[in-house]
Amino acid sequence: MQKVLSPKKRHIPKRMCLICGQKRPKKDLWRLALNERGYVFFDPEQVSPGRGAYVCPEDTCIAKLFTKHGEKRLRHAFKGRARGLTQKTIEALMAALESREGGTG
Ligand SMILES: [Zn+2]
Repeated sequence: MQKVLSPKKRHIPKRMCLICGQKRPKKDLWRLALNERGYVFFDPEQVSPGRGAYVCPEDTCIAKLFTKHGEKRLRHAFKGRARGLTQKTIEALMAALESREGGTG
């Protein structure tokens, strides 16, 4: 006898946006992780090890991420270990946002 797994019963992991606090399925959020030097980087494949923080893939949340407020939220999410966003991360997020807006969604 084989158990039939119903796709409806599959557990969907949810995460909270560190900016607006909205809970969404993990795959609908963008993951940020810390590199070995403590800088935040964009992890679109959600595969890098260690603690992650999540943000809505929307310009309102991304824009706030680049402010002092966002920096504070990041530091909190990474238990004080985040040293900030690198220029490369900011550019990667902006590029991802642009390509997302270019699509029909
Ligand atoms: Zn958000």
